Amino acid sequence: MFRSFSKKPDRFCTYCKKIVSGEKLNRHILRQHHMNDEVKVILTKSKEERTNFFYQKRREGMVEYNLELFKNQKEKEEILLMRERKPKHEDSLKMCSRCNRFLSNRTFYRHRKTCDTNTADPVSPKCLVPINRHKDQEFHEQILQKFRDSEVGKLCQSDELIQQVGYRHFSLRKSETSKREEIRKCVMTEMRELARLFIKFRNLSVDDVSTEDMFLRK
Ligand SMILES: [Zn+2]
Ligand SMILES: [Zn+2]
Repeated sequence: MFRSFSKKPDRFCTYCKKIVSGEKLNRHILRQHHMNDEVKVILTKSKEERTNFFYQKRREGMVEYNLELFKNQKEKEEILLMRERKPKHEDSLKMCSRCNRFLSNRTFYRHRKTCDTNTADPVSPKCLVPINRHKDQEFHEQILQKFRDSEVGKLCQSDELIQQVGYRHFSLRKSETSKREEIRKCVMTEMRELARLFIKFRNLSVDDVSTEDMFLRK
């Protein structure tokens, strides 16, 4: 893929899957994708909401672009990751486990203070390459098989979305071998909470609902 060397960092547009360089991403979105439903809606919102939306889009673009690079990376090949700012000094790029921003290892400690000191951990982008959870023995043995035979437990073992959320967390922190037990508990708690929330949601709903429906704003 072509990367420019202009002063502005490149951005990736999640709508047209193209690299946007030399132009701000929000301008690109407004020009090229103003007919998109999501964009149409956000244009009716407050300035603050719009700013947040574009910020979110920028971040999503970076995550998507970088993951794609890693997926296609050949062994020992160096890849140039998309990032928030261009570095002044040589560094390595980390992803924040909480907010998904790509940041320099040099400034991560500073970011951590403003993000969340408990859960914002630097993750090496190498750990982000999605692994198929169906093939991940560890996830099956350490997480899925440990749920009890209750309504909540069964839902965790059968629901696609709950498992995806759990697996994402699990694989992000897989490299922290010293905290294994803690991570295991944390992932299972998170999955149980989602399952409980869904059960409540289902009881309140008249129609048949799925876990995805919980995240749809209506
Ligand atoms: Zn676009
Ligand atoms: Zn963060």
